[in-house]
Amino acid sequence: KDELNIITGALELSKKTVKDVMTRIEDVYSLQISAVLDFDTMSNIMKKGYTRIPVFDDDRRNIVQILNIKDLAFVDPDDNTPLRSVCKFYNHPVNFCFEDQKLDAMLEEFKKGKSHIAFVQRVNNEGEGDPFYETIGIVTLEDVIEEIIQSEIVDE
Ligand code: ADP
Repeated sequence: KDELNIITGALELSKKTVKDVMTRIEDVYSLQISAVLDFDTMSNIMKKGYTRIPVFDDDRRNIVQILNIKDLAFVDPDDNTPLRSVCKFYNHPVNFCFEDQKLDAMLEEFKKGKSHIAFVQRVNNEGEGDPFYETIGIVTLEDVIEEIIQSEIVDE
């Protein structure tokens, strides 16, 4: 039965899009680039337990960097290090994709190994002004794998 599930899941990958499996931006734990890595902020990050934390400038939809939890290994909370300097130092690649990207194509992208998280973009052409890209969510390798095995992976 498991095998059948996996095959069905794999076949569905070319039909489903990242929008079907993403975590909505409203539910994403992210940090403001101007944040200071003091004791409170760092314990909060640890409590949340995410491996990757999007970093935004001003608006939560304006993602400019990614903080990896490992980046904090040498950060002493007593130093009140600005998050901006840590991000600048590691400067991890930030990858984007469109909401209608199919999951098989997304999986290929993740397999290349540049980054296992992508920011889901949509063209916003509502309203008067020019259309613009807006970030509506995040998708990670785990979200795609869950589709293949058709069941939830419970985090450690
Ligand atoms: P982690 O390694 O942090 O557990 P995974 O890549 O395994 O993250 O993804 C697990 C789930 O958590 C996925 O559904 C993913 O979309 C979501 N996720 C990952 N990072 C964040 C974050 N910073 N805020 C909210 N949800 C996240």
